[in-house]
Order: sequence, then C-alpha cells, then structure tokens
Amino acid sequence: MGKSSKDKRDVYYRLAKEEGWRARSAFKLLQLDEEFNFLQGVQKAVDLCAAPGSWSQVLSKRLSENHKQTPDEPEPKIVAVDLQAMAPLDGVIQLQGDITKKSTAEKIISYFDGGMADIVICDGAPDVTGLHDMDEYIQAQLLLAALNITTHVLRPGGTFVAKIFRGKDITLLYSQLKIFFPTVTCSKPRSSRNSSIEAFIVCQGYQPPVDYTPTMANPLLDLQYDSMNELTGPNRTIVPFIACGDLNGYDADRTYPLTSSYKQLDPLQPPITAPYKTAMELKRSNFYSRLDKK
Ligand code: SAM
Repeated sequence: MGKSSKDKRDVYYRLAKEEGWRARSAFKLLQLDEEFNFLQGVQKAVDLCAAPGSWSQVLSKRLSENHKQTPDEPEPKIVAVDLQAMAPLDGVIQLQGDITKKSTAEKIISYFDGGMADIVICDGAPDVTGLHDMDEYIQAQLLLAALNITTHVLRPGGTFVAKIFRGKDITLLYSQLKIFFPTVTCSKPRSSRNSSIEAFIVCQGYQPPVDYTPTMANPLLDLQYDSMNELTGPNRTIVPFIACGDLNGYDADRTYPLTSSYKQLDPLQPPITAPYKTAMELKRSNFYSRLDKK
C-alpha cells in the first residue's frame, strides 16, 4: 500500500495532519461542538481516555479563546487521563491511569481541589475484540466509569459528552444517564464512519437526584457489595421483595417420598426439538460406546 493511500481513503486523517491535530477524532469533537456549542464559556474541563490528545488540543484551543474574552477569570484548567502515556500539551495536566480504577478517579478529583468542571468528555474505546456483545459491554463499562467520575467533578448544569456503541441495549444506558441529565441526545458527527456503531451522547444540564452523594461504589464496576450495602437514600435503590405462594405448601428445595399409589406420567408436552435430541440419537446408535472402544 502506497504511503498516500490512507490519505486518499480517509479525508479526516489527511486533514488532521494538515491542520495539526494529533488524531482525526478532533473533527468529531469540533463537529459535535458546532452543533451543540457546549464549549462556549467553558473554563474547566476533564478529558477522559484522551491519548494521543486531539480532543485535549481542541479543549486547549477553545478554552484559551474563552479566557481571552474573560481575562479576569482564573486560567483555564484541563485534566487529561489515559491508560497510555501522552506527549505533553500546553496547559493540559496529564495523568496516566485506568479510569475504571478508584485510585485514578480519586486523582482526577484531587486536581479540582473541591472546584468543579464545566464539562467532562470521554472518547474512551476498548481494544475491539470483534465480539460485538463483548465490545458493547466493555464500552458501556467505560462510559459508566466516566459517568461515576463525572458525578464527583461536574458542576450542576454542566455537560458530559461521551462515546457510545449504539447496540441493542443502548436504551438501558440512556435511562441511566437520564437520572443525572434532563437532556440526553445521541449524535453522530460526519467524521465518524457510517460503518462504525460508534456515536456520541451529549448530556446537558447536570442535575443529580436530590440528596444524591457521589460515591466510589459502582455496582457495575466493582464487586464490593459491602460498600454497596453502606449506601443510603437516593444512592441506593431498593425494590420490594415479596415472597408469594402458600408458605405452608410444598417447598421447592425439599425431597418428598413417593406414595404407594404413585404412577410415573409422561410430560404433557415434550419439547418439539429438544436441544439434547442429537445427543440422544447418538446414544441410541451406540456412538459413544464405539468411541470408548477406540
Ligand atoms: N480522544 C482521543 C484523541 O482525540 O486523541 C482519542 C481516544 S482513543 C479513540 C481511545 C483511548 O481510550 C485510547 O487512548 C485508550 O488508551 C483509552 N482507554 C481505553 N480504556 C481506558 C481506560 N480504562 N482508562 C483510561 N483510558 C482508556
């Protein structure tokens, strides 16, 4: 393949190099912002899963433009995190770590020193395995980790933008996001290939439930159910548990002796195509005993 063939096939790849962006992903954030204008007035931002850093470049450019309009405000603050090391960028605090780990989340929060971010963005993507269910699941875990960090650092009214995979269970994610944001929109920028199931959610107007306290306990990310049990109020959702049926009746876990009048009956409706049909046929034809003799 000639050196220029990727430039020919992928216009955004070529443009990124021409315009000085570290990756073609820069155009996704630029096009999303063109549509939603969420970088307007932003002074503090978190870029999760940021390497090689094109989204951080966009943030750095836009936040310094914002600062020029309001020079009396404090300097912009951008915290960028990735598993991979990232080449330095002016005005961007970099942190190497896994966003699903409590220690990384705590470090990000500590950079804000009690202050709040105006926006959290996350372009996180796992190494795709090609097993769609698995890829969607891991992507959803990244998104939930990002949302968890967001609940610690985002100011009320702030914005959360993240990559999602539009799989069959996407509505479950939307419902989880709607708990925290009144406006959740799914958007696909022109620079994101149509062949990819990737899209971006733009969640606006951060508004956690009343009395919600951000916590590091995440039921989907860590299996520390002890810490889940310590949760109270709106942080803990309890659904009613109701036992039903006659509690003095038969117990499904007990063995009952057969009476002398017992007669074995065939099932009323045997399965039409039983999953064990082939195995039964092989057994009837002595296939297994012939195998044993070999
Ligand atoms: N937005 C970036 C840019 O514009 O340069 C590109 C991000 S790239 C598509 C996805 C990134 O997610 C990779 O750099 C990968 O290392 C990072 N990533 C995946 N899982 C992660 C995790 N658990 N914690 C932190 N970063 C992660």
